[in-house]
Amino acid sequence: MPSPRQTILVVEDEAAIAETITYALRTEGFEPLWKTTGRDALAALNLQPVALVVLDVGLPDMSGFDVCRELRRRHAVPVIFLTARSGEIDKVVGLELGADDYLAKPFSPRELTARVRAVLRRSNGGPIATSTIWQHDEGKCRISYRGTALDLTRNEYRLLGALLASPGRVFNRDQLMAAAWDDPGAALDRTVDAHIKTLRAKLREAAPDADPIVTHRGLGYSLREET
Ligand code: CA
Repeated sequence: MPSPRQTILVVEDEAAIAETITYALRTEGFEPLWKTTGRDALAALNLQPVALVVLDVGLPDMSGFDVCRELRRRHAVPVIFLTARSGEIDKVVGLELGADDYLAKPFSPRELTARVRAVLRRSNGGPIATSTIWQHDEGKCRISYRGTALDLTRNEYRLLGALLASPGRVFNRDQLMAAAWDDPGAALDRTVDAHIKTLRAKLREAAPDADPIVTHRGLGYSLREET
């Protein structure tokens, strides 16, 4: 299986800047995902695995700082801030929000992709430990369960990644399809069910006694909260 392109979440409300960024990222072999508000960005992070977030500080609904604070509660994904004023740079550096880097506007697309690569190289140095039970290395698109690396197809990986981003949350089939398929309209409900079935089989191989995926009849699926 060819490794899927790494998804870079771009949170920027100015279309011209976002277009420049997404074009540069796509040219460099990344899969950009563009959101214009903090709320949409946080929702997207819960639905699919993201390798890195490019986050504008000045957003229409909430500040990039608040978005970062919020996403840090659930995700270990690296963040590069985009700042418009020197005052914002001071804040990025001073607040210790866990930003991995920042870029002051205006910047060249080449500068941005170089920073993205550098941050990914750093963060791919070791797997990101989601918990002692699950290990999700978002840079390498790899998930381990109870110490065993799972051999997953692209759709299985994206499906499990979505569940893993919010343990305990019940996802309906539409949400899982949106997270795991590029063309959700083409996938039927039973495609999600079929993939959950093969996922369960692979998880059983890793840990015969465990059944971490919970079926909620008529609703969807969730991942058992384990500690
Ligand atoms: Ca802005």
